[in-house]
Amino acid sequence: MIPFRNKTPKRRDIKTVVARYSDHRDELKKDYESRCGYCNDVDTWRTVWFEIDHFVPQKYLNTISETDYSNLVYACRSCNNSKRAHWPTEDELTHHKNDEGFIDPCNDNYDKQFARNHSGRITHLTQLGKWMYYKLKLHKPQHEIIWQIEAIDSLIEECEAQLDKMDNELLKERVLNLYREYRKYTKQLGSI
Ligand SMILES: [Zn+2]
Repeated sequence: MIPFRNKTPKRRDIKTVVARYSDHRDELKKDYESRCGYCNDVDTWRTVWFEIDHFVPQKYLNTISETDYSNLVYACRSCNNSKRAHWPTEDELTHHKNDEGFIDPCNDNYDKQFARNHSGRITHLTQLGKWMYYKLKLHKPQHEIIWQIEAIDSLIEECEAQLDKMDNELLKERVLNLYREYRKYTKQLGSI
């Protein structure tokens, strides 16, 4: 079984008072290491599609302020849109009940609900995980594709290190060109 992700994001205890919750975007991006808290997609190729989610939806906030950092999640548009105001307990303090509801993605327990199959597709491991899986639409193809692209990038980095030791200059240049082309196009995806 492949783990859902390598690391659980950790929110710092930021108490700065801000006018709008979006003022926390840079801090959130840092704490979530540029990844969606829910699906773990990296924002490299889809920066403009990343948004800020209220873990407990604004509609159910009672004691927590809508700008409170502890309730914010750096999230891709797909997860943010899919989650919307779904909150079955309708209670700010109860995150889930009877296998329905959400686990804070900064809690280690979140990672125990999911895994990946050999191609990077997210799978659910528990009943609560299954509920979140369908509510967040974690079956959508981009989660698998982004996982695959990251794996290819790692492989390319390994190959580049090996290429230095290669004697065949012509082949070496061709392969490096291929990598440059690949990066030229994947980089453009981040700004469209
Ligand atoms: Zn996401």
